[in-house]
Amino acid sequence: MSKSISTDIRLDPQALCDLCGAGDPSYPIIYKDQYRNITGGIARCSRCGLMYRNPASRTAHLADLYNAQQYDESACAWISARKRVFDRYLDEMEQWRKNNQVLDVGCGPGFFLDACKSRGWQCSGLELSASAVRYARDKFGLIIENEAFNGRKYNDNSFDVVTLWNVLDHLEHPRSTLIDIYRIIRPGGCLIVRVPNASFHLPAYIFFRNLYFIMRQNKINPAQMGNFSFTAGVLSRLIKTVGFNDIRIDNSRLVWTRTLNDEDTGGLRMLFARLVESISNGITMVTLGQYHVSPSITAVCLK
Ligand SMILES: [Zn+2]
Repeated sequence: MSKSISTDIRLDPQALCDLCGAGDPSYPIIYKDQYRNITGGIARCSRCGLMYRNPASRTAHLADLYNAQQYDESACAWISARKRVFDRYLDEMEQWRKNNQVLDVGCGPGFFLDACKSRGWQCSGLELSASAVRYARDKFGLIIENEAFNGRKYNDNSFDVVTLWNVLDHLEHPRSTLIDIYRIIRPGGCLIVRVPNASFHLPAYIFFRNLYFIMRQNKINPAQMGNFSFTAGVLSRLIKTVGFNDIRIDNSRLVWTRTLNDEDTGGLRMLFARLVESISNGITMVTLGQYHVSPSITAVCLK
């Protein structure tokens, strides 16, 4: 019999914390995403603090969701704004280039891999959306596998760099995926993981859901939550338990509009983005890395 926390939400009683295996979490937040027809509880593990959605979205459901999206020029204009996120790491990645192999898990329409390709990397990518795979092929000439990550497909120590840009939070089992990824990265290679920051998104969700009528009128989703909500501390612990070390957590650069790019240096949006990024980085610096308040965080770590 399913446990229930409200009349219309049925929880999966078998759900366990993916990080520490504990059950019986608390449910501080009821979550409703009416755009994607997802309702559930946000569980908080009483042992390690990992927050996860119950019931979780299955990978097959995500594939249906992404396949319903068409990745044309208009839809991809927004995603292309992530270029300023990627740019921050492309130079840094050069120090890990040894076998010249990079894998982007959940690569979408291929903007990151295209940037890697233009720097001479041998690129591998995985993506659930067939439409995104076609876009990456037609636009960038990238050959992307249209499937979920399966660690058994890859040999040990295959890649210099593996990236997951806003993917880890949507997986069913992030820890077992990271264990496989650890195995296929070469010793001394790097993992880069960007996720929404729970320290920003959960308070924002609680605040904005009360304004839901206004948000709906303007077709704004109060928050998009994957299966997992990571704070910097919990993300860092998860990565460490898998075996990675030298873990650094960055406040991610902002991306909220398709017009936001670093060439637009005089724009008001860019000015606002740089101001918010400076404040976020200042808070992290004065708290000696204890607090990250930006909407997304990026972990960089080594095998
Ligand atoms: Zn836990």
